[in-house]
Amino acid sequence: IVEMKDVNKYFGSHHVLKDINLEVVPGEKIVVIGASGSGKSTLIRCVNGLEPFQGGRIVVDGHPLEPGNTSKTSRSLQAIRREVGMVFQQFNLFPHRTVLKNIMLAPMRVRKVGRNQAEETARRLLDRVGIGNQADKFPTQLSGGQQQRVAIARALAMDPRVMLFDEPTSALDPEMIGEVLDVMRELAAEGMTMMVVTHEMGFAREVADRVIYIHEGQIVEQGPPAEVFDNPQSERTKAFLSRVL
Ligand code: ATP
Ligand code: MG
Repeated sequence: IVEMKDVNKYFGSHHVLKDINLEVVPGEKIVVIGASGSGKSTLIRCVNGLEPFQGGRIVVDGHPLEPGNTSKTSRSLQAIRREVGMVFQQFNLFPHRTVLKNIMLAPMRVRKVGRNQAEETARRLLDRVGIGNQADKFPTQLSGGQQQRVAIARALAMDPRVMLFDEPTSALDPEMIGEVLDVMRELAAEGMTMMVVTHEMGFAREVADRVIYIHEGQIVEQGPPAEVFDNPQSERTKAFLSRVL
């Protein structure tokens, strides 16, 4: 459902992604690991067109992204944005909207869903992430873990085919990490296609079908978590894991 072919990305003269080839099948859970600055965020931001890239091709559910066509008006990019949900480290909620409105906005504006239906969906999703009773609060009145669950509900409201997560628990106090990972585990169990950047190696081991280790913009090693974690082939992977495990 996601295909990256020979993707290369530069920030100025800095070569940040080097010949990335990656195919994600429907329902697959990918966890991306690697050191700070290795290109993890850039990699997943390319998938929904948040970052332009300079070489190669990305296809999401049949919609192509190419170096030249990442302008906002590209039909392909708009289609991809509708089908790919993203959750960031900083929750990026609209501070002056209630929780409920945060979730209703995109479906109403982008998918032209009616207000009543948008509200019904929003309430159902809030229940699903365990905060049905917080609908009328504002984001700042919630804990970090609750805010991140709103962000997940907001992404799900667009009925995405793929969910991208960029360190969704890194900004949270330790006691709130579990509640967010639980929601992600449920989503995984329901069959969502997921690409997750995380330092939560326990989550990776449990949920990932495939772990991808990137180093300086290259995929150095990938495989099922049991293989990558317990029997890494590359010296670089071994060195990285010895620091994080
Ligand atoms: P972290 O674990 O710290 O989040 P990361 O693996 O997500 O790191 P990226 O954010 O993808 O790394 O960054 C990869 C490289 O690109 C880094 O060297 C970073 O400094 C550089 N970079 C990222 N964003 C920009 C930008 N907007 N302009 C210039 N350079 C950037
Ligand atoms: Mg990052």
